[in-house]
Parts: sequence; structure tokens; C-alpha cells
Amino acid sequence: NGFIKLGLAPELIAAVADMGFTQPTTVQEKVVPIAMGEEGSARFVDLMVSSQTGSGKTAAFLLPVLHTLIKRQAEAEAQARAEFQRLADEAAARGEAPPKKPKRKDPTNARHFKAATPGALVLCPTRELAQQVAHDAIELVRHCRGLRVANVVGGMPYQLQIAKLQNADLVVATPGRLLDLQRSMQIKLDQVKFLVVDEADRMLDLGFADDLAEVNQLTIERQQTMMFSATFAPRIQQLAARVMREPQRVTI
Ligand code: AMP
Repeated sequence: NGFIKLGLAPELIAAVADMGFTQPTTVQEKVVPIAMGEEGSARFVDLMVSSQTGSGKTAAFLLPVLHTLIKRQAEAEAQARAEFQRLADEAAARGEAPPKKPKRKDPTNARHFKAATPGALVLCPTRELAQQVAHDAIELVRHCRGLRVANVVGGMPYQLQIAKLQNADLVVATPGRLLDLQRSMQIKLDQVKFLVVDEADRMLDLGFADDLAEVNQLTIERQQTMMFSATFAPRIQQLAARVMREPQRVTI
């Protein structure tokens, strides 16, 4: 499988194989290694990519983002296990019973409600595109235990969306509904480390410039931004200059 050489997590290699992908497309081959960054490097590179629908661009941004989420989740779990073991050892040394494992909260119980705090966000200009991207993301995480994807788009019942949003690691959204949920405090964007703006040119055509500016302001912990667009027209470059730091350009 041609995806192995990209250095992706085994869960993702298995998923692309299930989806019938045997070789990365050009955009995937170019974008994935740059977006994943150097192993051990603290800084992620921002990317501005020109690519058309049908090029495989969706997996080009989903794979590196999911790869990093998988790695971070594994690190967090290892840390939690070590901490639990430390407490258990201390308790044993004092001759006490071991500490109880924390219970999982029930997201459908209103008492346990917390605003969603996703680590990654993909913005799409239309509901149809957001649903397609979320669908691909769900396929790609099928071998990942505990990575959750949520889709936030207008026209879906709020209650259903809010229930699914709880514990989401990756949110795929249209800007309007996302900001509605942000204002009603159902979602907080201050934990978003990875932001993708898909079809940035259509985003501007549809009048989402102010919404993008707002998301740009709200994602204060952002470590990486990727923008995909059919063209690098001047207005796209202006947007890129506002939301990215020295983006690397990839032209397909
Ligand atoms: P996109 O450009 O992301 O809309 O992708 C276009 C289509 O290509 C979608 O149906 C994908 O499932 C498919 N696709 C993406 N990457 C690959 C690949 N490496 N091999 C085969 N098909 C792919």
C-alpha cells in the first residue's frame, strides 16, 4: 500500500485500505508529509493548497490532522495510565485500597453537559460539502478507538447535533451554524489546534469572510491552518495573509 511511506498511523493505513485507496493522489503525496511536520518538531507548517474537487484533497487534509490527533490521544492515555498507576502505588504503600477508575460521563444526562471542545475543525462553504467531508472522516477513523467526528451544519435539528457534538475531537462545520453553537456556548473553539478551510474561494463567494475572521479570532490555541482553494486569486491571498503565518504553497 502506497500510503505506508507517508508515515501515517497504522489505524489510518488500515482505513484507506478499507476504502480501496492503494496509492496516494498527487495532492495527498505533496500535502500529507508537510502537514504532519517533522517528527519531534514543535512547529507545524501552515499550508495554502490549490486543488480541485476530485483530486483527493479531502483525505489530503483529513489524514495529517487525524494522524496528529491519534498520536496526541495515545500520549494523553499513556499519561493518564501512568498517573493512575502512581496513585495506586502510593495507596498500596500506605496500605490503602487502590483509587477508583474515573467513571465515564453520560453525555445525554443534562447534569453532565459540558461545551464541546474539539481539537480540530474543518470549515466548509456548504452543507453538502461538510456532510461529504464528515462522511470521509468517519470512514477514516473507523479503526481509531475513541476518536469522534461531528458534523455541524444548518438545517439539522439542534438537539441531535448537540448530543453528537459532545466529546467530538474533530468537527466538520459550515461557519454559520458553528458560530450559532459557539454563541449559545454549546461549543468552545479555544482548544482547536488544527483548522482547515476547505474551498476558501467559495467560502468568500458565499459571504463567509466575517465568519472566517471570527473563527480566526476564537481559535486562540491554533497550531496549524490549512487553506484549500481552486485558485490563488488576490482575495484568497489576502485571506491567507490574515489567517496564516508564512504559509507554504502547494500547487497541484
Ligand atoms: P475529493 O477530491 O476529496 O473530493 O476526492 C475525490 C474522490 O476520490 C473521492 O470519492 C475519494 O473517495 C476518492 N479518493 C481520494 N483519495 C483517493 C486515493 N488515494 N485513491 C483512490 N481514490 C481516492
